[in-house]
Amino acid sequence: MSTTKQDALQYHENGRPGKIEVIPTKPYSSQLDLSLAYSPGVAEPCKEIEQNPDDAYRYTAKGNLVGVISNGTAVLGLGDIGAIAGKPVMEGKGLLFKVFADVDVFDIEVDEKNIDDMVKVIKAIAPTFGGINLEDIKAPECFEIETRLQKELNIPVFHDDQHGTAIISAAGLLNALEITGKNIENIKVVVNGAGASAIMCSKLYISLGVKRENVWMLDSKGLMTKKRSDLNKYKIEFAQDSELTKLEEVIKGADMFLGLSKGNILNKSMVQSMADNPIVFALANPVPEISYEEAISARPDVIVATGRSDYPNQVNNVLGFPFIFRGALDVRAKAINEEMKQAAVYALAELAKKDVPDKVNAAYKSQNLIFGKEYIIPKPLDPRLITEVAPAVAKAAMETGVARLDIVDWEQYKIDLMK
Ligand code: NAP
Ligand code: MG
Repeated sequence: MSTTKQDALQYHENGRPGKIEVIPTKPYSSQLDLSLAYSPGVAEPCKEIEQNPDDAYRYTAKGNLVGVISNGTAVLGLGDIGAIAGKPVMEGKGLLFKVFADVDVFDIEVDEKNIDDMVKVIKAIAPTFGGINLEDIKAPECFEIETRLQKELNIPVFHDDQHGTAIISAAGLLNALEITGKNIENIKVVVNGAGASAIMCSKLYISLGVKRENVWMLDSKGLMTKKRSDLNKYKIEFAQDSELTKLEEVIKGADMFLGLSKGNILNKSMVQSMADNPIVFALANPVPEISYEEAISARPDVIVATGRSDYPNQVNNVLGFPFIFRGALDVRAKAINEEMKQAAVYALAELAKKDVPDKVNAAYKSQNLIFGKEYIIPKPLDPRLITEVAPAVAKAAMETGVARLDIVDWEQYKIDLMK
């Protein structure tokens, strides 16, 4: 499935330019409707909210509204293309939020690179939203921007480039370990790349049981070691006491290769030097660190995932963010915390083990999807994602005290989610 430049431009230009619009949710055809929607009626909810700010969830769209906010400094694989050039991506994210989980989005492009100013701007507009999805903000700035906003705001702040990839790939990892019978506490993981996604994948894997000393991370200059003086504070956390530097040395005997770097930098002999039943997640987009075919041809016992939709085991963030925010919004969560992320990981991993409905097989041209080496991660068009992931996230929010609202009838909640 390939698209041409012309297809893509026409898709965006045809009809009303762009991909999203605003639709009123209340009647507006009579004089009375208008006087309720706006002046004078609108003053009543204003006064209620002034007395009790949480009433914004009751009388406004806040509770179903996510701000997709970017400064355009790390857009897709395009790099720092600027705030306005990133707008098609942010609108696209709005489209995905809406169609997969009925979450409304305002996309906000901020022409600002300075960390303090980004935090200030986002904090100032946060009252509008029930949650904030930070998007395509470059590392290492993204880490501080997110952490500060999480501390200072009482709504979920989630940088999808960090956590989305971490959550989906972690679900794949758990299932790959189950298939190969390996124990997460013993595996050696080589992480190629030390950017937004790589750092957060490593942290999440560690929270799921990988030993920090078993994570070997490389950036464009080689292995993170204690000898290097050029490492930022995020990279230093992964520095090894080692003389090794190159990927081909570090990868020997590894159980997992996680690539979040650049295309075509892992070769067959490196894959052959890994441990038995190795796991290769080559996630650089659009060209993976090693192609699916090449990895498979390197050895028969490998489990491979990429970021591509044209091969098995696609790590695609759309499996996560719409449903994670759905669950968080539905309990008016104050945050998306570690427990909620882990709940999403386990829900995704479990879903891949369930029988696949005919509808899903048909959507993927009648492949017979069965849990195994070529199906460790659910498919994006699986309609069960919303009813598996959102409740798991909502439940974790309630259990960890960040929910403002409790869901009581889970069966009814699932029925509502399917509407
Ligand atoms: P990023 O923040 O720019 O990080 C890229 C990292 O790769 C940097 O740490 C960089 O090193 C390192 N790198 C570059 N060339 C390298 C090489 N030859 N060997 C080792 N490391 C190298 O980017 P990101 O957002 O994390 O994304 C990285 C890649 O993963 C992109 O291709 C992106 O499309 C892909 N990705 C895929 C998914 C998915 O779900 N499939 C999700 C997220 C990201 P320095 O620190 O030295 O510059
Ligand atoms: Mg992104």
